Amino acid sequence: MARTKRQAPRGTPAKTCAQLLVLLGCLLGSTAPTAAQEPYDILITGGRLLDGTGNPWYYADVAIKGDLIVAVGDLGDVQARQIIDATGLYVAPGFIDVHTHAGGGLAKPELSEGRPLLAQGITTIVANPDGGGPVDLAAQRVALLEHGLGVNVALLVPHGSVREQVLGMEDRAPTPAELEQMRALVRTGMEQGAYGLSSGLYYAPGSYAATEEVIELAKVVAEYGGVYTSHIRDEADYNIGVVAAVDEVIRISREAGLPGIVTHIKALGPRVWGYSMALVQRIERAREEGIEVYADQYPYMASGTSVTGALVPRWAQVGGREELIRRINDPRERARLRADMLENLDRRGGAARLQFRRYAPDPSIEGRTLEEVAEARGLDPIDLAMELLEHGRPRLVSFNMNEADVETLMCQPWAMTASDGDLVPMNEGVPHPRSYGTFPRKIRLYARDKGVIDLSTAVRSMTSLPANVFGLSGRGVLGSGAIADIVVFDLDRLQDLATYERPHQLAQGIAHVLVNGRFAIEEGEITGRLHGRVLSRRAN
Ligand SMILES: [Zn+2]
Repeated sequence: MARTKRQAPRGTPAKTCAQLLVLLGCLLGSTAPTAAQEPYDILITGGRLLDGTGNPWYYADVAIKGDLIVAVGDLGDVQARQIIDATGLYVAPGFIDVHTHAGGGLAKPELSEGRPLLAQGITTIVANPDGGGPVDLAAQRVALLEHGLGVNVALLVPHGSVREQVLGMEDRAPTPAELEQMRALVRTGMEQGAYGLSSGLYYAPGSYAATEEVIELAKVVAEYGGVYTSHIRDEADYNIGVVAAVDEVIRISREAGLPGIVTHIKALGPRVWGYSMALVQRIERAREEGIEVYADQYPYMASGTSVTGALVPRWAQVGGREELIRRINDPRERARLRADMLENLDRRGGAARLQFRRYAPDPSIEGRTLEEVAEARGLDPIDLAMELLEHGRPRLVSFNMNEADVETLMCQPWAMTASDGDLVPMNEGVPHPRSYGTFPRKIRLYARDKGVIDLSTAVRSMTSLPANVFGLSGRGVLGSGAIADIVVFDLDRLQDLATYERPHQLAQGIAHVLVNGRFAIEEGEITGRLHGRVLSRRAN
């Protein structure tokens, strides 16, 4: 168990090293204050250090002053204002979530603390994934900082939003002038400190973009040293197929000259189960050719999406929501839409594999499957889906992955961890449990219990690897001079508690979290103090 001893110099009443140094300084006639005179702010002692690089754990103390780690090693009897006894605990860099939808929630005063994130050991998130989120990153920065932040936030320029701002929901290529406008918006975002470009080429309006358009925009990002991260055009066999969609990321990475990331990599649906090895081979071959490609992943069998995302074909979304509803009610177009939705339902493995999440117009469906609700109401599943679409935007979890693929992808040295979670008020709706459990679950289930990866590799996938890929300089490792984002956890107690049925449960087993050298969790309690920052690539 973690114990905090305040104001307690460690060791015996005999003179400490620091005191002896001061004494030595006096003897030598020096009166100038030395760094050794000042005690450290925080000393974490006796823990098993996972330094984030993938090294196996080793015993080391960690000394913190201000927002920096100033010493790591056997620090003996040094002075510190506060000593954390981490005996029996693991000490690691704070976890980095490279794909999350929490950015919106963090800008709200009631959620800015990011409790579900801190309780997982997350200290930094990357916002605006899937090509979505605000185009005006300066305004987003102001909104995020207005009420304070529990965690650090790095921003991405969202391709879909940029496209929508210039072209609306039109399914066509941009004119040269429009492409120039889009390039200018991306450039502004990078100037405002973004770490890269996100796309959602599966979703409208990103799906209306040709590869060449994305390459042109990614070239602007490359000038700034940013990355390209993509919810790929197809994770199943909806259009070009999952293998070709990974190839598209590789091509963009090669032709634009920047790191490419296949975000929340998966083989979606029974028709492509087993394809994980083909994806691994594509990425490995690209890397052998010198193209810097990575992936990130969440450790669950279900993805989170919407009825629109899972079932509605993109042609039916051209023109936006009003047009979709008109098509649902037009008998001729409805027949075509119905046939395509039925095909998409089969891709997802059937109506029993789709479970409703938040749906404000009719919360009674939340937590039930499309099959259950359709049967209870005597409706065909597709007719029910269309009816729900007319009244709102039903969210889903889609049980579409298999364990072997998830484990194959997790083991790759270029695979990071990401939640793809959301940040919503406790007890509002039924979000995907990944919002509360991703990081402890990966360590607990896949490293500790199943041994699919070892502990230091799991921690590396959520610390130094994402820090390197995204250029989050000074973070992701425990070493002298690094920024003091630190998590101290009890491996025996570490566990995700969120389930698909009862997702609103904080993870357990995180003893301490430091964000920029200050306590966000102390002795298992969230402190409520807001020490996060909006990070800027430009400042690095
Ligand atoms: Zn996505």
